[in-house]
Amino acid sequence: MKTFPGLTASPGVCSGKAYIFKAPDLSYDPSRIEAPGEEKKRLNRAFGLAFEELDRIKDSLSGSMGEEYGHIFRAQMTILEDDDFRREIEDKIDESPRRAETAVEEVYKMYALLFSEMEDNSYNAQRLADLNDVCKRVLRILLGKEDVTLSVLPPESVVIAEELFPSDTAMMDRKNVRGFVTEKGGLTSHVAILAKSLSLPAAVGTPGVMGHIVKDDTVVLDVRDYEKAVVYVNPDGEEQKKLAALEEDYRRRREELLKMKDLESVTKDGHAITLSANIGSVEDLVTAQGFGAKSVGLFRTEFLFLGGGLPQEEEQYQVYAEAAKKLAGGMLIIRTLDIGGDKEVKALNLPKEENPFLGLRGIRLCLKHEELFLTQLRALLRAAVHGDIRVMFPMVSSVLEFRQARELVEKAAAKLAAKGVEHKIPPLGVMVETPAAAFLADELTREASFVSMGTNDLTQYVLSVDRGNEEISSYYRTFSPAVFRAIAMTARAAEKNGKWAGVCGELGGNPQAIPVLIGLGVKELSVTASALPQTIAQIRSLDMSRCREIAEKAVSLATEDDVKAYLRTAV
Ligand code: PEP
Ligand code: MG
Repeated sequence: MKTFPGLTASPGVCSGKAYIFKAPDLSYDPSRIEAPGEEKKRLNRAFGLAFEELDRIKDSLSGSMGEEYGHIFRAQMTILEDDDFRREIEDKIDESPRRAETAVEEVYKMYALLFSEMEDNSYNAQRLADLNDVCKRVLRILLGKEDVTLSVLPPESVVIAEELFPSDTAMMDRKNVRGFVTEKGGLTSHVAILAKSLSLPAAVGTPGVMGHIVKDDTVVLDVRDYEKAVVYVNPDGEEQKKLAALEEDYRRRREELLKMKDLESVTKDGHAITLSANIGSVEDLVTAQGFGAKSVGLFRTEFLFLGGGLPQEEEQYQVYAEAAKKLAGGMLIIRTLDIGGDKEVKALNLPKEENPFLGLRGIRLCLKHEELFLTQLRALLRAAVHGDIRVMFPMVSSVLEFRQARELVEKAAAKLAAKGVEHKIPPLGVMVETPAAAFLADELTREASFVSMGTNDLTQYVLSVDRGNEEISSYYRTFSPAVFRAIAMTARAAEKNGKWAGVCGELGGNPQAIPVLIGLGVKELSVTASALPQTIAQIRSLDMSRCREIAEKAVSLATEDDVKAYLRTAV
């Protein structure tokens, strides 16, 4: 048996078979050419196999994630059925001797050039992205490489990867995943958030696993400890028995906690704390409701955009309205698109940035791509008539951005009104996730209806440390007094202006941090679905006056270690 230590990204215990997620090497020698007839035969065979692969993915996704996801692949299948497209590649092979691979790449480049001269709109960007995917698939098949996709997984897979991005996992076959192990990635990286939303264990920052684990190895993940995770590979009979007992014990304790899910989240001395769930889709909401969610404090809408498609107004409206209806009057905070950083939307074809976390992200990108933003705003305003929808803007770093976003909300409303479409302007809030927003919390909460602290980014920007880089994870100090002081400042300003402040970053679900947050005046916690029952249980065991004492002390300390040591004894 081999073991690997890692960082706890999402708690739990699981066992399964390793599925190694690694993009295949698509390099080849262009001078090794067969006769043109043979190259054309290879091409046609590859087209047929590519079609079959897409058909399998389409069926699998329709089953696990809903029909609409399956349809995304239908567009790519249509490209493979297009005889003119295939003939263009064959003509290239005939033109002068070329490998089928070279011909595919040349035809793709020609189309990419053509598209670059067309109108820069989301429809064209989507078509080019589909074409790119199809050509890569055909190329890989021509080179005899296996498809490495998360869209179709063997049962009980533990996904092992160097790193996982939202674009990799958006189309993941969720029903067959048991857990995740990645070499890279920090505690609040995408895979950590995804794993928590699926209530699955994940270990990140486990260097070397890719070189030591092979497909179908037995992997057991023990991620019970907040401080460290352990990955066991091919445990022998005795060890496996012990680990199976651990898994069973963990499952039983979770079941016990689940009994708390419908109790009120109120402290022993009667202070109500709104407890909400973080979601990325309607499916996540259904899961969260299973854990007792009555409201949503963060709907990450960019997840609707990461799977390859650019949903238009009607499709978005349906999703937001469905979520509002499912909550039956419960608060639903929808965050407008937070693209950028590590969230790449392929269909938008945005230029690569040197420093994406400080780049065109969140509200900045939406203010620049006004049509994209207005489409989402119209969908939100229409959905707002179906429930208690509130809208918040990510990555705000000045009052001006909030005002500009609000003006666009008014513009979207005017357009709907002119067309006689039913709509409502919902309360507008701001995410506090830049130091500037914390410093300006007073000004922001005079104009916004509420603020919600995105502590994942707030920590990253207050401490100037990349949240996704495991190499510097020791600098990503979740319990830094600097971060708590930014939270204190924000909560105080909101209170002064008669508004509420919440926390929707991962810190909000951290049992050691919760008494501090509540003591600092945070009124709402939005946590990952699976953390809801334990958070209710904890809030019900707390006393507000004691939380205030704890918070005051924690904020006054000098180092993260001091804070952690203090909380270990005080909480
Ligand atoms: C945050 O930054 O804390 C947050 C909730 O947003 P995201 O994790 O999606 O960046
Ligand atoms: Mg954020």
